[in-house]
Amino acid sequence: MQYHGNLIKMSSKLDGKIVSYALTLGENEIDMTQLLDKTIKLTYQNKINCIKCGKETKKSFGQGFCYSCFITAPEADECVLRPERCKAHLGISRDMKWAEEHCLKPHIVYLAVSGGLKVGVTRLSQVPTRWIDQGAERAVRICEVPNRHIAGVIEKYLMNHFGDKTNWKKMVTNESLPEIDLLSEKQKTIGLLPNELKKYALSEDEKVFEFSYPVNEWPQNPGQHDFDKKVEINGKLTGIRGQYLFLDREKVLNVRRFSGYKIQLSSD
Ligand SMILES: [Zn+2]
Repeated sequence: MQYHGNLIKMSSKLDGKIVSYALTLGENEIDMTQLLDKTIKLTYQNKINCIKCGKETKKSFGQGFCYSCFITAPEADECVLRPERCKAHLGISRDMKWAEEHCLKPHIVYLAVSGGLKVGVTRLSQVPTRWIDQGAERAVRICEVPNRHIAGVIEKYLMNHFGDKTNWKKMVTNESLPEIDLLSEKQKTIGLLPNELKKYALSEDEKVFEFSYPVNEWPQNPGQHDFDKKVEINGKLTGIRGQYLFLDREKVLNVRRFSGYKIQLSSD
């Protein structure tokens, strides 16, 4: 089979704790989980289209935007990476209509184990997708707040105690961590919050989300593929976690990093 289209992050489904993936390429939705153990080839066709406006761009900015969209689109605004700087609650945004649907909606602050313990924020409606995109093995909700700004303030506060980045190498190698008791971490975390933020804590909520990824063989010494340096990657699909494909175990491709890149995908 052969498919063509611009890369976009994979979509995921959760059945219990089992994660499965699909990749939309052009008109086709490809069931990636079904391709496990098959030999696949992805070839970059030297063309990038902006994921916002569709125009061709020589270079991708902020994982898939042309420069013009990168500096004007609300999806690429500062508050996406730095939620505490979100000003939508003050009526300030690149696009207030977008902000009403994205920034001014309930958000959660969470703790997740994804190659290490990290704190993060996401829109309530992005649960559990956000955690799967990060390749988290487990996650708990700490707070629920009315907008992105407050979530960011809490995250910033907690970053003095936790990291906020996923370590991709630890995540794709499934580095085993000392057993982290997420519920006790959660209670400790709530204890750290100043009083004015404690009112948002989900103290009674004891749900721990768990995720199991379609992986046959874990990478041990992974190397990240870069389409800007090498147009083709091929091999047996040995696993998928987060937005990473594992080929021949050690070659890993972060699909999201190459959003907008036109590629051909073939499988036997
Ligand atoms: Zn654009």
